[in-house]
Amino acid sequence: MKSFQKSIIFDRDNTLIKDYGYTHKIEHLRWMPGSLSMLRRLNNKKFGLFIATNQGGIALGKFSESEMLIFHYEMSNQALQFKIKFIDIMYCKHHQKSKDHKKRYCYCRKPKPGMLMKIIRQHKLNPSQCIYVGDKWTDYLCARNAGIKFLSAPKCYGQKFYHDLELKLASK
Ligand SMILES: [Mg+2]
Ligand SMILES: [Zn+2]
Repeated sequence: MKSFQKSIIFDRDNTLIKDYGYTHKIEHLRWMPGSLSMLRRLNNKKFGLFIATNQGGIALGKFSESEMLIFHYEMSNQALQFKIKFIDIMYCKHHQKSKDHKKRYCYCRKPKPGMLMKIIRQHKLNPSQCIYVGDKWTDYLCARNAGIKFLSAPKCYGQKFYHDLELKLASK
């Protein structure tokens, strides 16, 4: 298995794509400004690209797991048209308010570190060379719980984000 020197794990909603609240319909798939060019640039620089996203809407019955998988398939396809390859899209389908108690508890719902740790383990990543990028405080906590670096998602991806990323990776 190929292991990546540097890896960026992205939150999904309001980090890579706009969040419309339980976003799962393809007509609501809108990439954040500058995100696709940034992802392409990172891909060209051989960064490993991953997504880790809470999709508790599944446990809440807002949409089905297969609807979400179709949505992710469309995301991956649109990204591929820009020559961007996500290595893995990890999701948590649980929610503490689910009517079904089996869908309530897990180790993956952020801020729990399960998804990030699974990505690191499965893809043999070096945790010191991993960054989680997200828009929420729970994303920051999740990165901290997994022992990796964190960067806030910008409103618009550009040179500054890339610069911050490099600085963060170089930091202790
Ligand atoms: Mg988010
Ligand atoms: Zn979970």
